[in-house]
Amino acid sequence: MDGHGLAALCAKARDGVLLADGGTGTALQAQGLPRGSCPEEWNLSHPDRVAAVAAACVAAGSELVYANTFGGNRLVLERHGLSQHLAEVNASAVAAARAGAGTGVWVAGDIGPSGQLLEPLGDLSPAAAGACFYEQTAALVAAGVDLLVLETFTQLTEALAALEAARSVTAIPIVVSLSFDRGARTVMGVAPVAAAEVLLAAGADVLGANCGGAWEDAAEALRGYARATPGTPLLLKPNAGLPQVGPQGDVYPGDPDAFARFVGSMVNQVPLCIVGGCCGTGPGHIAALRRTLRHGGVGRAGQARESHLQPPTDSGREPLDSSGSPEPHDEPR
Ligand SMILES: [Zn+2]
Repeated sequence: MDGHGLAALCAKARDGVLLADGGTGTALQAQGLPRGSCPEEWNLSHPDRVAAVAAACVAAGSELVYANTFGGNRLVLERHGLSQHLAEVNASAVAAARAGAGTGVWVAGDIGPSGQLLEPLGDLSPAAAGACFYEQTAALVAAGVDLLVLETFTQLTEALAALEAARSVTAIPIVVSLSFDRGARTVMGVAPVAAAEVLLAAGADVLGANCGGAWEDAAEALRGYARATPGTPLLLKPNAGLPQVGPQGDVYPGDPDAFARFVGSMVNQVPLCIVGGCCGTGPGHIAALRRTLRHGGVGRAGQARESHLQPPTDSGREPLDSSGSPEPHDEPR
């Protein structure tokens, strides 16, 4: 395949929209990761179980998996005493994802927030945040990821710092996904309309909503993106409903069929190009969503969706060059 960035990724979509994976943290906990411990440490100590997470989602229908690198930046790893192993933590995650996913599956480098508030609300300067994300992006790109997903951000300044840093490293596709849970606003008050133009201008290829609160919040956020920048490819990776707090921590109500109906309904409302699940979702949710996608989503079955799979042409950016558009690797690495 002669890849051209995002279009090359999406051209592989089996049912018109790329099906990503479920919640990595949820899956690792199911594999025995103790709550509260560092998921990224398992890239070094339990790479076989990290690979098994990817393998289970691919078996359920995922054609894109996230590497276990959500907290693989220096500021988060420092809290776990792992910052001296940053490159290895990120590279091992990508290798485990490839090994588990097998052939013909895209692997995304997953970049989560620093866990600190940026100025003026907190102490972290945008420059320091940028340096942190630059370092992780460089490690992920060196490890050979096909795309980057910057996810679960709630501060626009931090998302922008991460995006600008990442874009200065690489031309591969970049998704920027915010977490909405106050209506269609993030906990820091960011509305999709405010975020969309800023993030597209800084080089995002896909805008998204993941994790967060009620499904309707994510739905309204996606509609907000679509109104602000019509035609921009979108990502949706919601949780398995609203969690209830149990003695062991958050418990998600689950119900793969309800999850699949919700995500499947959005496929025919906004230009989604990547769907999947976040906290509380696993292979059962992915399998249910695969069945729904195979039938054209929910609402307008069989509707052709090809027009949703093109990268934005009106963002003022140059197209990605071919060096930034790899194919899925034929062999696990
Ligand atoms: Zn989540």
